[in-house]
Amino acid sequence: MIVVLSKGISTHDKEMVRIYLKDRGFAIRDQVLGEDEVIGATGKGVVDLRELGILPGVERVAATSKPYELASRESKTEDTIVTVGGSASQPWSASQPWVKIGGSRITVIAGPCAVESREQILETALRVRESGAVMLRGGAYKPRSSPYAFQGLGMQGLEFMKAAGEATGMPIVTEVVSPEFAAQMNDLTDMFQIGARNMQNFELLKKVGALGKPVLLKRGPSATIEEWLLSAEYLLAAGTRDVVLCERGIRTFETYTRNTLDISAIPVVKGLSHLPVLVDPSHAVGIRAKVSPAALAAIAAGADGLTVEVHPHPDEALSDGPQSLFPEQFERLMRDIEALAPVVGKELLRTPKPSHGGQPSHGSSASAAAGNTVSLRSGAGDDAAEVLSDKVAFSGESGAYAEQALMRAFGEEAPRLGAASFRAVFDAVLDGSAGFGVVPVENSLAGSVHENYDLFFRYPDIAMVGELKLRIVHCLIGDEKAQIENISIVRSHPQGFAQCRDFLDKYPLWQLEACNDTATAVASIAREGATKVAAIAGEAAAKAHGLKVLRAGIETNPLNYTRFVIIARRNGSDRAPVPPSLGSEPANKASLVFSVSDEPGSLFACLKIMSERGINLSKLESRPIQGKPWEYQFYVDVTLPPTEETFDAVVQELKAKTEDFHFLGSYRASL
Ligand code: PEP
Ligand code: MN
Repeated sequence: MIVVLSKGISTHDKEMVRIYLKDRGFAIRDQVLGEDEVIGATGKGVVDLRELGILPGVERVAATSKPYELASRESKTEDTIVTVGGSASQPWSASQPWVKIGGSRITVIAGPCAVESREQILETALRVRESGAVMLRGGAYKPRSSPYAFQGLGMQGLEFMKAAGEATGMPIVTEVVSPEFAAQMNDLTDMFQIGARNMQNFELLKKVGALGKPVLLKRGPSATIEEWLLSAEYLLAAGTRDVVLCERGIRTFETYTRNTLDISAIPVVKGLSHLPVLVDPSHAVGIRAKVSPAALAAIAAGADGLTVEVHPHPDEALSDGPQSLFPEQFERLMRDIEALAPVVGKELLRTPKPSHGGQPSHGSSASAAAGNTVSLRSGAGDDAAEVLSDKVAFSGESGAYAEQALMRAFGEEAPRLGAASFRAVFDAVLDGSAGFGVVPVENSLAGSVHENYDLFFRYPDIAMVGELKLRIVHCLIGDEKAQIENISIVRSHPQGFAQCRDFLDKYPLWQLEACNDTATAVASIAREGATKVAAIAGEAAAKAHGLKVLRAGIETNPLNYTRFVIIARRNGSDRAPVPPSLGSEPANKASLVFSVSDEPGSLFACLKIMSERGINLSKLESRPIQGKPWEYQFYVDVTLPPTEETFDAVVQELKAKTEDFHFLGSYRASL
């Protein structure tokens, strides 16, 4: 049983809770669980949970039915997000890099099996970093089956690895094989790895757990899931908050592969525990050509990331060469993961280039025009506008899709401002109460969100600076007691109705009520306690408002994506700041809106300008101009040419040929 204490509980109240538990026959331990201070109570004592729950200073009581408590989902329902390296409250910097594992991101750790030399680890670090790895792995102490095999370079290897991590802005993870090395290694490594063979070396777990650093706990080749989680419990009970589980294949009767990757363990463990789960496809499979398919399967099954062996010259590797990927294979794998990530509602974590400050972003998607030279592009150059607020505005209540997009682009902890409407988001960014805003502009099933395009005209000082695509999985959400047969009213944003047309057609008697956004629809049901009303929104909104998912995946087509843009205020020179969390890749896409005169060939003349300069159009949509019946404006997205001059010339020519030209902004295209 876990007793979660209120923040700021007095010493007296804490002592009273302790006495209460001890008097009833429990053995107790003070512990920390995520952000919470808790008392773990074990034993055969008998207690009235309600009485315990109302003692002063008790926030809640989680009665765990599992032998592991701190690791169990019953004691902590939300996912644990582990920060490795630096400090997540500080901006990311190459000298103090940090990465997060867990939540809605995919974190990829890569590197050789063993550190072999200063040059080898540095070369590998540079190669994997180039392909998008955010952390470096490598063994300095190698637990080899044969005493005659290469045992690792020891502390010297770890020093080489630390230098390679620093040179590439990547935190490092390395295996600790014995309690006697732990303290010494603690000064150099950002994360400890407990190897599969040591999963049940309890003295090692206690010693490493007590150091408080993040730990990557590999599953033993013959360990059950329960044994694995009990080992995690050892680490948590010893004092670390940050444990990441790693499935690396188990021993079965099959001998073709080195081990058998237990894919089903991923969803099982994610259900049983709040801890992040990584997969090591290299040791699981042991055959280079089979590593990438297994890695993709792991991501599809819900893994929070991977740790992969990569060697610049695998044929010369001192250990595990046959399972180490060539850097080119790793590059291909990363591209595939990037394409797969939105399908499972996640994004690949990216790290800024070492020369650029900021915070790691999720996905290639959102990085905008930092450092590029095209004058019309927004960019975080020296003359970029100052951002007055660190808040990010979105429309809706907690659990809104826009909030999910916001968290992807700015991180889960980003301070946010829930605005009452899209217009209020623009207002907040304009008046500086938010530094940035996130608004949807297009859905792959229902089309453009015209309301937001219109707002860009009304707010010429607001520019698009980033883009992010989110897979939208709609759910029918209702009260705990609601039954689908008894529903008579359904609330959502009109886009929610449009995207679930086929499902709604099965219930022709339902009355549809439009709301400002999907999460507001959910919140209204929670407030009213209505049992005959349901909402169409995302699962996050159901969770945020304590409601039940009555039916999941009700969108007409599963390939349902919404394109969000990040907005910021331009300064005088047309530039707008780019959030550092969006990375430093140059902008490669721009959005324009213009209208043309009502005469033959006027649109053709504009398209010709772009065609002649080799500029690709990724979107062209016509839309009636408000107040001018039968006149149209065109929404245009283009791929930016490599040089500033070309684009500037195009813009000048377009301005001359169009009636009303708006440059909405430039940004890094999302996949
Ligand atoms: C390793 O990651 O280098 C390693 C030895 O893995 P495992 O402990 O899973 O065999
Ligand atoms: Mn290995």
